[in-house]
Amino acid sequence: MVSYKELGLVNTRAMFAKAVKGGYAIPAFNFNNMEQLQAIIKASAETKSPVILQVSKGARNYANQTLLRYMAEGAVQYAKELGWKRPQIVLHLDHGDSYEICKSCVQTGFSSVMIDGSALPYDENVALTKKVVRYAHRYDVTVEAELGVLAGVEDEVAAEESHYTKPEEVIDFVTKTGCDSLAISIGTSHGAYKFKPEQCTRDPKTGKLVPPPLAFDVLKQIEKKLPGFPIVLHGSSSVPQEYVDIINSHGGKLPDAVGIPEEQLRKASKSAVCKINIDSDSRLAMTAAVRKIFTDKPGEFDPRKYLGPARDEMEKLYKHKIINVLGSDGKAK
Ligand SMILES: [Zn+2]
Repeated sequence: MVSYKELGLVNTRAMFAKAVKGGYAIPAFNFNNMEQLQAIIKASAETKSPVILQVSKGARNYANQTLLRYMAEGAVQYAKELGWKRPQIVLHLDHGDSYEICKSCVQTGFSSVMIDGSALPYDENVALTKKVVRYAHRYDVTVEAELGVLAGVEDEVAAEESHYTKPEEVIDFVTKTGCDSLAISIGTSHGAYKFKPEQCTRDPKTGKLVPPPLAFDVLKQIEKKLPGFPIVLHGSSSVPQEYVDIINSHGGKLPDAVGIPEEQLRKASKSAVCKINIDSDSRLAMTAAVRKIFTDKPGEFDPRKYLGPARDEMEKLYKHKIINVLGSDGKAK
């Protein structure tokens, strides 16, 4: 058993309480390789933003859970080296789908886990979440649960269609399970194709797809039922058009990729939403940078020469999210 506390990591409890009160959100960035992690830590250290490092099932399969855990431990030291005296870094399991996975993460140094029982019938979701909470809280590890189903595909998380979280269920769910935060469904979704073209309208000037707005009325009702309770938004990449354009003009093919407009995430950050998950945007930043170099410098074969610029691009993106969208800069001095 390794406690996250020995690794210099923190859980989400105090961080979320501060964020809900302060009207900002903590970035939750997924990572599965060194360049991504370097970019996340550099952006967070330089802006003094608390940060959640997320490990998904896909990342665990790709990079190995143990290796990722040691990378997170190294990230704390790296942050200190960068001059961040008291780094506030959470190591979080994204979309844990069983009690066993959550338990294994708690034992190996994760400070937070998500148990995603959202696809189960309500009572089974309650029972599974409760079981995970009981175990995790013994070690002061915080637990995120989910109610409602998100559409989209990202890693192993796939759902055909979304169902908004039912506000009438949230009090019962949170009380019965004892979870520390709740991921809800209000129209965000996983991946770079969050909406089908027929769900969107087209901007007559640019011809670009305009996605339907998030269900802020549902969010408001949930906030009313659970005043001050930490709410989480998954699938909140914005799919920046400039990256999509670079990718498409350098041999890529991402027609009609569409995400959540940043103004809507800015608005959500000011509410009880205190954790916003962003994964696809960093994938797009990395892919755009690499594609550009492969086109512009076809003789390049040193991975540092294309992964380095990709890392810089991701760092720029993370800083932009922290400062201009979530408002978490300066909150972990
Ligand atoms: Zn998710």
